[in-house]
Amino acid sequence: MKKRRINKIAIIGSGIMGSGIACHFANIGVEVLLLDIVPKTLNDKEKAQGLSLQDKVVRNRIVNTALKNALKSKPNPIYSPKFTQRINTGNLEDDISKVKDVDWIMEVVVERLDVKKQVFEALEKYRSPGTLITSNTSGIPIKFMSEGRSEDFQKHFCGTHFFNPARYLKLFEIIPGPKTDLEVLDFLNAYGEQFLGKTSVVAKDTPAFIGNRIGIFGIQSLFHQVKALGLTVEEIDKLTGPVIGRPKSATFRTVDVVGLDTLVHVANGIYENCPKDEAHDLFKLPDFITQMMENKWLGSKSGQGFYKKEGKIIRVLDLNTLEYRDKKRSKFATLELTKSIDNVIDRFKVLVDGKDKAGEFYRKNFAAMFAYVSNRIPEISEELFKIDDAMKAGFGWEHGPFQIWDAVGVEKGLALIKAEGLTAAQWVFDMVASGNNSFYTVENGATFAFDISTKKQLKIPGQEAFIILDNIRKSNEVFKNAGVVIEDLGDGILNCEFRSKMNTIGGDVLSGLNKAVDLAEQNFDGLVIGNQGANFSVGANIGMIFMMAVEQEYDELNAAIKYFQDTMMRMRYSSIPTIAAPHGMTLGGGCELSLHADKVVAAAETYIGLVEFGVGLIPGGGGSKEMAMRASDSFRKNDVELNILQEYFLTIGMAKVATSAYEAFDLGIFKHGKDSVIVNKDRQIATAKAHAKLMAAQGYSQPVKRKDIKVLGKQALGMFLVGTDSMQASNYISEHDQKIANKLAYVMAGGDLSEPSLVTEQYLLDIEREAFLSLCTERKTLERIQHMLKTGKPLRN
Ligand code: NAD
Repeated sequence: MKKRRINKIAIIGSGIMGSGIACHFANIGVEVLLLDIVPKTLNDKEKAQGLSLQDKVVRNRIVNTALKNALKSKPNPIYSPKFTQRINTGNLEDDISKVKDVDWIMEVVVERLDVKKQVFEALEKYRSPGTLITSNTSGIPIKFMSEGRSEDFQKHFCGTHFFNPARYLKLFEIIPGPKTDLEVLDFLNAYGEQFLGKTSVVAKDTPAFIGNRIGIFGIQSLFHQVKALGLTVEEIDKLTGPVIGRPKSATFRTVDVVGLDTLVHVANGIYENCPKDEAHDLFKLPDFITQMMENKWLGSKSGQGFYKKEGKIIRVLDLNTLEYRDKKRSKFATLELTKSIDNVIDRFKVLVDGKDKAGEFYRKNFAAMFAYVSNRIPEISEELFKIDDAMKAGFGWEHGPFQIWDAVGVEKGLALIKAEGLTAAQWVFDMVASGNNSFYTVENGATFAFDISTKKQLKIPGQEAFIILDNIRKSNEVFKNAGVVIEDLGDGILNCEFRSKMNTIGGDVLSGLNKAVDLAEQNFDGLVIGNQGANFSVGANIGMIFMMAVEQEYDELNAAIKYFQDTMMRMRYSSIPTIAAPHGMTLGGGCELSLHADKVVAAAETYIGLVEFGVGLIPGGGGSKEMAMRASDSFRKNDVELNILQEYFLTIGMAKVATSAYEAFDLGIFKHGKDSVIVNKDRQIATAKAHAKLMAAQGYSQPVKRKDIKVLGKQALGMFLVGTDSMQASNYISEHDQKIANKLAYVMAGGDLSEPSLVTEQYLLDIEREAFLSLCTERKTLERIQHMLKTGKPLRN
């Protein structure tokens, strides 16, 4: 059989989900045909323009408006505005025949079986045999949708369930129908993971599948507990947010964002369709939810939900009075105890032992969750790890219920369940009786999970493409200090992993990087700089810079900055290839490190930029030098070189942060032909390693130091100074902004040389460091740094 490829996809339905999914396929380079219905009536504007229902603008109005709104929404669904041209729009009357040419048709229309069936009937007339055809339903049984369709249709039909927003949430559930070919499921499973960058989970055709069944159970059980435990909305959000590795929006704020109606719709579906569920009553809506639905307090879309923005302040709903009141600070002794525990997974043991209301809450909450998930196996999944995968990928949890249970201790979890009067599934008792005291184990870098049918720990499939640093950190450690762990990735490649708080780059990280290059040069073929924390790095340790600057220890500060610069240069000038693997926030020093690596293998979701202006500085770890050099490298004969230099200047001067790895190419931070992007972050380290191996195999020599960097001297400096002067005069920037910009201008112009000249990197690094240090003596810069340290936000003074 021919290898299946997806070059073109038709997405039917351009609502919230359809438009978001269309953008994500465009993100990964697929040509999209997005179709929706033809409007039945003209709107006022169309009437005023004298248009008729036969005009194309009118016929495509629904789809075009929906796509336009999606592209304006935040967080943005598209990696780069340029990718929008990969999406063609049309309508289901004039353009439906075009589906004959696509490789995959995905239905994303309203959640109504009758409508979906009509759409499938219409599509079948044009669909070419063998074409994938799937539905994004959140809960309609897959078996009902393909009734009446041909054999070929049914063999290629299944559910493909994205979570909202499609670009950002990683869960991709694949739900087979009664006749779906195994080939189709295998293909989608692999495609979701490798091409769409998702966590693929093949689920059974049970109500709400895996993610929503467990997720909605979790929320509903909180709805029922909140009042009984005498807790408030903001307290629950405090207890169920980042402290337990869940998104900041925690529980109630998440419901506001998703929309209470969406949640209620799924909860009602489970209530109706799962009468035998032991927690059936929990899916019934408590009175306050029914009242909120009646009031149309649905969350962000209706202006109020559990929270309400009044002017600049956010007020919160009192669940007893159903009135909004000011938020109160939530404080719990148990949470204070976890403040010093950096790793979330280590907190759970402490939390369930808490002596206060928080402790009681966690005991009840986890007991209910543990019991529920144990009883869903094998009903919704044969494998326990799928439940964890679904919760992590679909709801942004750092750990799934079984992982948390392992952290608490399996037997302790069973005791909590018993204490709450609940019952865990028999297989958990059997597991413990047979000597297995955890759901997961790690062996030789691979994760194994307990399998209830064979009663053994089985290796979780599909891990070959991943390297999980958590699993190899201990066994493969080559070196460790307070800032980094250096691991042997195998096949001659080392990895240097940051382990500092928020992966900031301070002395330990820098010495770790030097050590990594030394070790790699001695005994290995290449080096990856990568980690699997929430963010690659939020930049240099500005706390340290602040201390030295306040103490006026300028010699030490100079030495520290020089060490940073030298380390960056070591990344570039070493005898082995160095590969940076940025992801998430990659700011300031994290960006400078990426600029100096031989190659970048970036996760698509990389938010990278030189943001030093925000703390009153210029990039001092070679970032300013690098932008001047990149400008010089892009000068071509007859170019207006000043204009090119200005573009690079503005990348720093406006503290631009790319909103995806693709945008970083437009900012001159990543280079076409050298750097690459990977959609699935889980594959990043393994892919970076493969690139390192390839570069070594191709014959890597240490680069020769550059002395051909063209700087424009006074000519550029004059232009920049006039520019910043007029910006300041028109109040566009502050006086201090102007001072910083002028320092940057001096560095990027290569100083006040009377003529354009060729210089070395070290020449630029020296003037960059001098400018950086002089800014450290400025009071306003120190104020900016202090503000950032205190609030995490930039100060404009
Ligand atoms: P939506 O209401 O935003 O969009 C539905 C689209 O269907 C609209 O563009 C509408 O014009 C179109 N439509 C209406 N009648 C039609 C017809 N007769 N023929 C063809 N198209 C028609 O809904 P949505 O939130 O995008 O949901 C779409 C699907 O995705 C549903 O099955 C829903 O359950 C599922 N889903 C939604 C979410 C979510 O969070 N919104 C998440 C996962 C899955």
